[in-house]
Amino acid sequence: MTAQQVWNLCLDFIRENTTQEVFETWFKPIKPVKLDGKILTIEVPTPLYYEWLETHYLNLLRAALQKALGRNAGLMYQVRMSNKKDAPRRDITIMGSKTPRVDTRNKALNEQKKSEKIINPFVIPGIEKVKIDSNLNPNYTFDNFIEGPNNRLARNAGLAVARRNSLSFNPLFIYGGVGLGKTHIANAIGVEIKRMNPEKNVLYVSMEKFTQQYTSSVVNHTRDDFIHFYQMVDVLIIDDVQFLSGKPGVQKVFFHIFNHLHSEKKQLIFTSDKSPVDLKDVEMRLLSRFKWGLSAELKSPDYKTRLKIIQNKLLRDGVVMPEEVIDYVAKNVNTNIRDIEGVLTGIIAQAAFNHKEINLELAEEVVSNFVKHKKPEYSCEMIKRIVAQYFDMDISSFESKSRKRSIVQARQISMYLAKKYTKASLETIGKHIGNKDHATVIYSLTVVQNLMEMDKKFRNTVKDIEAMLIEI
Ligand code: ADP
Ligand code: MG
Repeated sequence: MTAQQVWNLCLDFIRENTTQEVFETWFKPIKPVKLDGKILTIEVPTPLYYEWLETHYLNLLRAALQKALGRNAGLMYQVRMSNKKDAPRRDITIMGSKTPRVDTRNKALNEQKKSEKIINPFVIPGIEKVKIDSNLNPNYTFDNFIEGPNNRLARNAGLAVARRNSLSFNPLFIYGGVGLGKTHIANAIGVEIKRMNPEKNVLYVSMEKFTQQYTSSVVNHTRDDFIHFYQMVDVLIIDDVQFLSGKPGVQKVFFHIFNHLHSEKKQLIFTSDKSPVDLKDVEMRLLSRFKWGLSAELKSPDYKTRLKIIQNKLLRDGVVMPEEVIDYVAKNVNTNIRDIEGVLTGIIAQAAFNHKEINLELAEEVVSNFVKHKKPEYSCEMIKRIVAQYFDMDISSFESKSRKRSIVQARQISMYLAKKYTKASLETIGKHIGNKDHATVIYSLTVVQNLMEMDKKFRNTVKDIEAMLIEI
């Protein structure tokens, strides 16, 4: 078979197993380059594009490839546009290891082959001090972590931990929503510590992987080895500790390791999607330890920071984009940095493979596709919350019997928005918003519609609330 034939088989499989949109954006533009035994090389436009594939579609790609070429199929990427400095490291990676990789983002690409050999890293009998593969992603550094008001505390605390060897932030607990840079910062701290002190045993691990390792150590009766291994590290970085929720067994062993390392004055760094206070189903004694050091929140970047992040990414990827396109993306993609990267990659991909010019029109198209897919599911509760927030009233007043004009109007607007933004029936809307019947809901909808037509001030009020809703 030729590379093209193999790729066609893959495309058939992928087309059946994903949406049209994803297929068109991410797979159709890929070009097969060569087939070497069971290893297929494909060409992607930029390093970002490749990272996106690896993060989001690795399993799909693997399944497609194994279907076409059999079990030990491999995949290599060739990046079309890559700036010279990064090229040797990022150009090529091999996929197709027998053990599925859990978190591909976080594995240093050039370390993959090496670490595959270590089957069970914690059974190393009789060795007191061993060198541990730190499992850090060398592409996540402080250099390319743009500072902004949203991340200043976390970034500087991270730097302090890495540079000054300060132990006053122990543990350092970094939390925030998805795509805001937790994994990036956590790795950057480790990379920086390694750079300053190469002899230190730094270990990065996701809580998911830690949990898996723990579980298999229990099955294999190697729980003690597991604990010893973790007690040996100098700097322990655990990503996404919210995975501890509801897992008492892992919490116990984690508590044990934490206490040991902390009393030995070893640095601990954790990330989580929630603050320690908001973590559910985690033992109190653990939560209180999380609060011993410093907790720093990562928030959504503001416009200026988004702009800087975009400019920096493009510079690193060697991609040129018109100012107005950059500005458009910075203004319109305000959720998180992962989304910004997704949009940039989409624009670059469309331009590179469909021979389109990168202009505002293309950016609008990519952004609107992206945003359409990211729309949250609105609920009556969400709408009530936003409306209450807008009118600065208590959410419980929706339920009150009051005929006060402001409350009645807030209720009516909420019903109108619930009708527009949710799939809830009129009965459900009525029940959730003030416990009203279906006729009242119909009446309210008419009132709001009429007012919207006649009263400009009212119309603007509703529009403002809608804008808040869209910002969620
Ligand atoms: P999280 O772990 O919080 O979900 P990640 O650390 O995976 O988020 O970040 C998502 C993407 O955004 C990564 O590619 C990361 O490099 C990038 N990123 C996040 N914050 C910044 C920043 N301040 N500057 C540059 N890139 C960033
Ligand atoms: Mg992460």
